[in-house]
Amino acid sequence: MSTLAEATVDLGAIAGNVRTIASVTGTDLMAVVKADGFGHGAVQVAHAALRAGARWLGVTSTAEALALRDAGVNAPTLSWLHRPTDDFGALINAGVDVGVSTTTHLHAIADAARLLGVPAVVQLKADTGLSRNGAAGDDWTELVGWAGKYEREGGIRVRGVWSHLADADLPGAPAVDRQVVAFEEALRVARRAGLDPDLVHLANSAAALSAPRTRFDLCRIGIALYGVDPFGATGPGGFGLRAAMTLRTSVVNVKRVPAGTGVSYGPEHVTDAPTTLALLPLGYADGVPRASGGRASVWLGGRRCPVVGRIAMDQCVVDVGDLPVAIGDPVVVFGPAEGDQNPPTVGEWARWADTNPHEILTGIGARVARDHLHERTRTS
Ligand SMILES: *Cc1c(COP(=O)(O)O)cnc(C)c1O
Repeated sequence: MSTLAEATVDLGAIAGNVRTIASVTGTDLMAVVKADGFGHGAVQVAHAALRAGARWLGVTSTAEALALRDAGVNAPTLSWLHRPTDDFGALINAGVDVGVSTTTHLHAIADAARLLGVPAVVQLKADTGLSRNGAAGDDWTELVGWAGKYEREGGIRVRGVWSHLADADLPGAPAVDRQVVAFEEALRVARRAGLDPDLVHLANSAAALSAPRTRFDLCRIGIALYGVDPFGATGPGGFGLRAAMTLRTSVVNVKRVPAGTGVSYGPEHVTDAPTTLALLPLGYADGVPRASGGRASVWLGGRRCPVVGRIAMDQCVVDVGDLPVAIGDPVVVFGPAEGDQNPPTVGEWARWADTNPHEILTGIGARVARDHLHERTRTS
């Protein structure tokens, strides 16, 4: 390998997570593979998740949906974030369900369907409290009214009604119940408009695992698919998920320094005793968050060693103390615990950087090679 770092993706872990989650929810699952499968490779993750029993794929954009089709992935797919000028004809031709949140989009989709002479299959999104996409109040009434009209004319088929939760990762948050109530009301409004959706869905990973009343027909699974506990270290936990990604690099320089040595840019870090510094060729351009400097650690030399000084664009420095570390020694930045190896988790990196694990995973940069371990190559 001549890249400076590798992200190994264990597709067996993805498959195992699908089975684990399905056994909890008892519903169909949508594998959410937006943002290149949270950085794991959308096509590879899609194949692994479908083989393990996921029925649906979820993406945010036309480009992501069509990329799956171009790669020969033809499973039911929902795409849910579009400009009204998107090529809806291409989505209709590709058999992709379109998530629809506004009448502006609905009219554009109906126009595209009319031009093609092929009905568009849509899933209408209600806003039940996230205040992002989706329609609420009179906008929802208007959206389902138009959808009913188009459906009766044959230009559109409404397969689904769905919404998204704001606080599912806060166990016991009352907002989840309020959103369930608002969602059920939105469903009643849709049915009064003559719609009869056979796919009703609300839950993301956190809700699917912890809140049975959010599960309906289908759960949309993102972060848990990749083996990250959606509640972090403080939640209910114990779901038996396995982290799919391991981020590895190796030491490219080692130096013994005296007390009082400044490390990396700026005045933040000065050694307080003689120590050994190891340089890693991985920085914030590769997804090691600059904000985690002074808090993060990596697995090196059989233990966790602190990242010290500012994290730079391309590199960062680890204080290994008196460990006999050499150039070329392997480093695990994050990954699952295995044997006596206990590297940091993605959840820990998220805490160190004051962010969520989703941002850590999707932030892994383009310079990091992806390497997929297929299920059949696993020996266990
Ligand atoms: C990203 C996304 C998901 C997946 O959420 P997780 O919390 O990662 O499971 C589900 N639904 C929608 C609408 C999303 O945008």
